[in-house]
Amino acid sequence: MPRPDVLELGIETLTGVGPAVRRKLGRLGIATVGDLLAHRPRRYESAAEERTIAGLFGEDEAVLEVAVRRVSGRRRGRLHILTAHVADETGEIRATWFNQPWLEAQLTPGTRLRLRGKRNRFGFQVSSYDIGDAAQTADFAPVYPATADLAQKTLRGLTEQALVHARAGGEPLPAGVRVASALPLRGDALVALHRPRSEGDAEHARRRLALDELLTLQLALRRRAAERETLVAEPLPPPGELAARYRDVLPFTLTAAQEQALVEIDADLARATPMQRLLQGDVGSGKTAVALYTLLRAVEAGRQGALMAPTETLAEQHFLTIEGLCAELGVRVALLTSSLTAKERRATHQLVASGDVGIAVGTHALIQREVEFSDLAVAVVDEQHRFGVEQRAALVEGRSPHVLHMTATPIPRTLALTVYGDLSVSEISAPPANRKPIVTAWVTQERSSEAYSRLRRHLDDGRQAYVVCPLVEGSETTLARAAEDEAARLREHELRGYRVGCVHGRLKTGERRAVMAAFKAGELDVLVATTVIEVGVDVSNATIMIVQEADRFGLAQLHQLRGRVGRGAEQSYCLLVSRAPDELSESALERLEAMVATTDGFELAERDLEIRGEGQLVGARQSGLTDLRFTRLRADRDLLEQAKELADEVADDPLLADAVDRLLGAAEHVGES
Ligand code: ADP
Ligand code: MG
Repeated sequence: MPRPDVLELGIETLTGVGPAVRRKLGRLGIATVGDLLAHRPRRYESAAEERTIAGLFGEDEAVLEVAVRRVSGRRRGRLHILTAHVADETGEIRATWFNQPWLEAQLTPGTRLRLRGKRNRFGFQVSSYDIGDAAQTADFAPVYPATADLAQKTLRGLTEQALVHARAGGEPLPAGVRVASALPLRGDALVALHRPRSEGDAEHARRRLALDELLTLQLALRRRAAERETLVAEPLPPPGELAARYRDVLPFTLTAAQEQALVEIDADLARATPMQRLLQGDVGSGKTAVALYTLLRAVEAGRQGALMAPTETLAEQHFLTIEGLCAELGVRVALLTSSLTAKERRATHQLVASGDVGIAVGTHALIQREVEFSDLAVAVVDEQHRFGVEQRAALVEGRSPHVLHMTATPIPRTLALTVYGDLSVSEISAPPANRKPIVTAWVTQERSSEAYSRLRRHLDDGRQAYVVCPLVEGSETTLARAAEDEAARLREHELRGYRVGCVHGRLKTGERRAVMAAFKAGELDVLVATTVIEVGVDVSNATIMIVQEADRFGLAQLHQLRGRVGRGAEQSYCLLVSRAPDELSESALERLEAMVATTDGFELAERDLEIRGEGQLVGARQSGLTDLRFTRLRADRDLLEQAKELADEVADDPLLADAVDRLLGAAEHVGES
């Protein structure tokens, strides 16, 4: 009889888990027996041959069965070295352990040991050992993601105990499905995950658990979509005079891709269920124009729009971008930031509450927590991947406006479907036609002076530039100081005589806004910045960017940064400065090469996946929906398809749905949303 509740048992119910270990496990996100069972090994020990001492040769890992002859410990500085002379019938060898002084008492003469390790010139370097039967030293023993203060041995021991409950969750999948795809029972998969008999065994188990994970995700997405269908929104009348005037005041003609997005949005707005649309488009593709149109559709209907950004800087940027256009259209816009005085805030809130303000711009947190609208019809949520599910949902529940989510994070299509499966998607697939692809070059530190002379030529032609500071370790404050220092240095040297401003995360809102406005107005030639300029900053006269120590940045981040230039008709450049190639890691080299090779965000996202490997992908985690622990999106496309089919079957069969829900804890995921 399945007893899924056993998996909910606190980790402290296992022997040997006191408050200290519990805290350490907590840091790994492990609170229950079920969590521990789902803690996936990072890798497995390889298969090592059992050898005799006389038969040891080479550098291969091997396992010995020996008895202890004598043991001695000594200290050298902070290092404790324990040496045991061990023997089998073929000879004797010296085995060493580092920093495990307590072992000395256990290794009394005559003790039988299994040792796994390698021969070195001092004897045998032990990587794991068992006193008695094989466990730590077994082939394919799991190696877990661990913290420094939590030993593998502890994790392995606790998992061993937890495995007793591996089958408590029962089997959620219909037998037919399981058999057809030759997948093991869930309980067996959990056992094999931690105690595989081979690499193949472990992979089999992983795929089974990945299917469960994807199915859970599909069910959660479906449920979310269904819940949404029950919400009501007021349909907006078709586009009228204001929408037409908007096209007139725009300084450019909308592209076909933008127009297509508008058609899709208009169709959504005409419905009595709230729009839930994701507008995906690479950096610089022109999402803001689409967003503003959507907001104006609300205003045109005599109602209100809200534009929400993840950071105050971004909110301010949006405000600067749309304020002018809105003024021409006679639409009142308010910016809500934390820097308003209490009095200003009250006044602004009052204007929003009375309906005098047509469009409110601010951070998601601020708008949602503090502002009462008189009649909110449309919400645009920028960079939605930065928000957790709860925030997304809270907005929907409270007011049921039509919602447009925008993201520039180039998420591979497979993944977008997986994590945003409940949203309809509009994609701006091509940038405005007058756009020339950004030319990207990669230079080493030694030749950075050439990069700066190139940059100065742009400035002399009346263009503007960005210099992105290195990503230094430490707090926001350290980062800010480094940026200030760098700006000061550049003013003295490479950029002497030019007007250089500096932005970072430690500036007060007013200061930051002043610097950004000055740069936008052309009163500054160069903006020295930390990654705060990663998103949203839009100055089309800025045509060149230098990224210092570019090897330290992730690919997605570099792509976002590069998107700050190339926003006008002029040819733009991005110069990546790094250490010499022979000082760079393999992955850093690959990232820089990829940046030079393409400006296509989707291609880069796919490349990023390849370089970084699976699992830690942008999007999956940020969606807030779930961590994909077991799934490998590229390798498991077939499983994704299967999960979708299964979710359909389950949806038609309430009994099955109920069982699957309970057993997979799908309800839990949905409960959060
Ligand atoms: P993103 O998708 O990154 O938010 P933006 O909306 O900021 O992109 O647009 C990038 C730049 O392209 C802006 O300077 C904007 O004015 C310009 N732009 C947007 N649409 C068009 C268009 N149809 N034709 C020409 N320029 C455009
Ligand atoms: Mg934008």
